[in-house]
Amino acid sequence: MRRSLITLSALLLTLGHLTASAQTDGRTVSLAAYADREMLPDFTEGPCPDMPRSLTQVDGSLYRHTSQAIPSLHSGFVLVTDEGALVIDPAGTCSANWLKDEIDSRFGVPVRYVVYTHAHFDHIAGSQVFQDAGATVVAHENAVEPVVGEKLPTAVPNVVFDDRTTITLGGELVELVHVAPSHSNSMTLVYFPRHKALQCTDICQSDTFPYNDFLDFYYDGWIESLDWVIGQDVDVIDIGHYTPATKDDIVDLREYMVDLHGQVLGLVREGQHWDQLYRNVEFKNEYKEWYGYEQMRILNILGMYRWVTNHRRGVW
Ligand SMILES: [Zn+2]
Repeated sequence: MRRSLITLSALLLTLGHLTASAQTDGRTVSLAAYADREMLPDFTEGPCPDMPRSLTQVDGSLYRHTSQAIPSLHSGFVLVTDEGALVIDPAGTCSANWLKDEIDSRFGVPVRYVVYTHAHFDHIAGSQVFQDAGATVVAHENAVEPVVGEKLPTAVPNVVFDDRTTITLGGELVELVHVAPSHSNSMTLVYFPRHKALQCTDICQSDTFPYNDFLDFYYDGWIESLDWVIGQDVDVIDIGHYTPATKDDIVDLREYMVDLHGQVLGLVREGQHWDQLYRNVEFKNEYKEWYGYEQMRILNILGMYRWVTNHRRGVW
């Protein structure tokens, strides 16, 4: 009897070890509460046989998936281990179905985790494809409210965190960090220390202009987040669009953001109204070479103008 008890406890220990080898220490969300939630139609469902997409190796077990073509290209890292894969932001249901089949046929492993960079539909659409097949969806805790409140037709996260959490999968460590509200208040930066790689979607750029009028914008936290990125030991940064960035690109972007903020604030304090102000913001020659200069620069000024006018008060 004693021997069989020992054998049983050894077996349980072994099982515990096996299941604990892929884990995260975030907080579990009660999905039953959202089982009957209302959802809008999913326009990313497809079919999309002609959509460009890829899954290419970046460094060892780290890959990058893309769907659509520049300027609409969406991307995210994919970690592939013998215990399963981790996907960041599937970016569409049609793409997710393709990516799931691609990972299965090329590597023969299931997707165990999906990570949300932030709760914007263009990035997190399609996550239900993996969740329905058993994957755990991990996001910042502020991602739940917009997913449910905006009736987004994608997965409600299974696990959430506040400042920082980790995922271990196939012996690899993945660090999820929420530095500050920046582009949304649910922004998560995903660091792969073994690969010196960082997922920094929408707030990092590679000689490209930030999108439109800085929608869902928090200037202070954006700068704080870029400072955090610049402080990391990182060689390759996927920005969720376009092509990956280096840390030098992020230094340049920080300078651009601070310069734009300073100019707009200065012009507002001179008493200039929008019709004058947007004509008087100056762009350095190097920014004129960045992708999106023609389409984005006035919208960038507008977004910064809104932020500045919402965060000041004169003599009254
Ligand atoms: Zn976004």
